[in-house]
Amino acid sequence: MQSELSSDIKAYLLSRGSVKVEDPSILSDSLKTTATAGPGAGGSSLFFRSGDRRVRLSINDRSPLSVVREDEDTIVIKKNHEIIVSGDLESPLCHCPRQAYITVSEKCIYDCKFCPVPKIKGEIKDNEQISRMVSDAYATGSLDAISLTSGVSETPEAEVERMVGIIKKLTREYDVPIGVSVYPTDDSSARLYAAGASEIKYNVETMDERIFSQVCPELSLQGVLDSLENAVDVFGRNNVCSNIMLGLGESDEVVAKGAGKLTGIGVIPILRPISPHPLRRGEVEVRRPDAERLVRLGKTVRDLLDSNSLRADRARTMCLPCTGCDLTPHRDI
Ligand code: SF4
Repeated sequence: MQSELSSDIKAYLLSRGSVKVEDPSILSDSLKTTATAGPGAGGSSLFFRSGDRRVRLSINDRSPLSVVREDEDTIVIKKNHEIIVSGDLESPLCHCPRQAYITVSEKCIYDCKFCPVPKIKGEIKDNEQISRMVSDAYATGSLDAISLTSGVSETPEAEVERMVGIIKKLTREYDVPIGVSVYPTDDSSARLYAAGASEIKYNVETMDERIFSQVCPELSLQGVLDSLENAVDVFGRNNVCSNIMLGLGESDEVVAKGAGKLTGIGVIPILRPISPHPLRRGEVEVRRPDAERLVRLGKTVRDLLDSNSLRADRARTMCLPCTGCDLTPHRDI
């Protein structure tokens, strides 16, 4: 049955996480993107848009879903030859639609077990490269925001220092909001805010303390939580968010309690379904959440946001306005 992208269909697509492209001619290079940060780094993906919703799906020949051109104006996603949703493909600007979302250091000294970045050992972009990327995105006329993220190439302090310099330069040249996601330091919020960032994300990754100590053995969950609390003081409510991954063996109860803790201090939780990465095979067990779990936990977080007078749809940078990878409260559900 042909349909617009509802929250239930989006949850189903997210639970699969991938799609196969049977006719490569429908997918020009400008419609593809390659992630350079986080658990999905290294893979190619596409953005599918239908009605008010958008989903990012990785491109995988073994996916049970396929993306197909139906007619001149319509792209559909099919399962077993049956259309489950119709819409169109959307061009990413720089990583995602309508944003220049740039990974500054594509390498990391830490060794979080779900993340391929330490294995990939990518480049560190210099100011000229970043300026060029933002300028190309700006030239399209559809740049809404600049978002910056980074692995930790030497120390968290050095990474914040690098970000401060980049943000100062970008704020002189562009009048769009800038969001930043880094590993926090004692003064990262104060320094990034003073440099001109308007929104910040420090990821807790998981609120299950036992799982955190296993998958992020070199990091401190309490340290990230303390930094998030301080970030709300500096950036203000609705301007601070944090990823909680779904798929590492955490229970719904721990996710709900953890999301309650974050919303209680004014932080917007982002529930991020993850898939196992081939570069981390054997190091961590990952089971992508099913659609029912995504909807159930999505509603839980939406209710928590509402009861704490927080709005996920006020964010202007990074993942909350993009929505590609998540069932985003107040936008999707
Ligand atoms: S939701 Fe975030 S990680 Fe996913 S495509 Fe959008 S900006 Fe990138």
